[in-house]
Amino acid sequence: MLPLPFREGGWGVRCMKSYDVIVVGAGPAGLTAALYTGRARLSTLVLEKMGPGGQLLNTELVEDYTGFASITGHEMARLFEEHALKFGAEMAYGTVSEIWTEGARKRVRTEEGDEYEAKAVIVCSGGMPRKLGVPGEAELAGRGVSYCAICDGAFFKDQILAVVGGGDSAVEEATFLTRYASKVYLVHRRDELRAQKILQERMFNNPKIEAVWNTVVGEIGGEGEVQWIRTRDAIDGKVGKLEVGGVFIYVGFKPSSDIFRDPIKCDPLGFVITDDKMESSQPGIFVAGDVRSQFVRQITNAVGDATTAAVAATKLLEELEHAEQDQAVA
Ligand code: NAP
Repeated sequence: MLPLPFREGGWGVRCMKSYDVIVVGAGPAGLTAALYTGRARLSTLVLEKMGPGGQLLNTELVEDYTGFASITGHEMARLFEEHALKFGAEMAYGTVSEIWTEGARKRVRTEEGDEYEAKAVIVCSGGMPRKLGVPGEAELAGRGVSYCAICDGAFFKDQILAVVGGGDSAVEEATFLTRYASKVYLVHRRDELRAQKILQERMFNNPKIEAVWNTVVGEIGGEGEVQWIRTRDAIDGKVGKLEVGGVFIYVGFKPSSDIFRDPIKCDPLGFVITDDKMESSQPGIFVAGDVRSQFVRQITNAVGDATTAAVAATKLLEELEHAEQDQAVA
């Protein structure tokens, strides 16, 4: 099944191409879904707003993907992309702004003004880092406030830094930042981390990291760049100040699930709820990876769920084709 010929669209739409399956997002989930639909010989378009890899591009080393004891995020992204392309997936750059159903087709529109249609869509749109929402955060973003240690860490050589959060990302990135920083405060609102134990061990064994427990950040300040953070003890309310040259914020992420025109079932945090075939409450729209409501967010389960989504989408398309053939015969 090959894409229909290119045709001009109207209403500001630059073009509309038709595929069997459109995959939204080229992270591990999206590239795996594309690999499977490609192998099923379905015409597949992957739409991605940045480079292929998703969160892998913000990860220095991946050490928890079976068969790869240690691989850089960039190398893993490259291998995943190469593999999906090998089986025929087409890649296009575009920030998906809207997905909706029109008759038997799904429509996907991008902020750039392109519109595509498909018989099924697999949404692997991931999420964005959550903001702390404190004074100074937005004003000093890019001037000491960062959400990506891999991208910005090297700018902070020999400085004192703060990392906010207590999950895998905060603990992993605090350790990474000690390559550059003279000292890293890990500021966490409780006295217990939720990060994996092996990451915690590494962090506690690192003499450059000091955990600041039961502490919330109330303000980020400085003259034109980050110079300090205002802290508050979560138990006794005591206010303090830490002098730092940068703040790295890892307080979870917000799912990119605001792209559906029609109502879709989500959990209270906005992650999309699916059934065991990864199909959302909108038939023909499948969801996998970090945007999906689930217990664990690892590369291993993202690619597993994407496999399920791709196989389920393939079966759905086969059923639709059979139904069309039956109708033609009748
Ligand atoms: P996360 O697991 O949701 O952790 C967020 C952390 O931020 C928690 O410690 C939370 O505190 C804290 N937090 C939330 N809101 C806050 C606020 N307003 N003020 C202060 N602290 C706040 O997020 P993540 O670490 O970004 O990880 C996201 C997902 O990716 C997780 O499922 C994680 O396992 C996965 N991941 C895996 C790896 C890996 O396998 N190597 C690496 C990175 C991420 P509480 O603990 O008190 O709730």
